[in-house]
Amino acid sequence: MKLKAYAYIGDDAESGITFANTAGQAKAAFADIMGERFIDVKVERLPWADKYWENGKVPDEALLAHGWSVSCYKCGKMVDIDTVVLIDTRGALCKECAGKDGK
Ligand SMILES: [Zn+2]
Repeated sequence: MKLKAYAYIGDDAESGITFANTAGQAKAAFADIMGERFIDVKVERLPWADKYWENGKVPDEALLAHGWSVSCYKCGKMVDIDTVVLIDTRGALCKECAGKDGK
């Protein structure tokens, strides 16, 4: 069955996306991940991300294109569409880490 994409709404920069049939299922999943109470979890639908449900993960490239920040896969620093330097198969790289590779 095709699942729908839901984003966690919170202060945490590491807020994520999950795939579920209903908002309730998405909330339950985030309550688990974030260690919060079900009733405190807020989610929003992300229709543009629905197509990634089969992978279970939205590529960094797509997140950045939709105004999200993602963490550099080497150092964990948050980068957005304005600060990201390189996106390869493993994810996004910040300026410092891309520089260390000599690129
Ligand atoms: Zn980095």
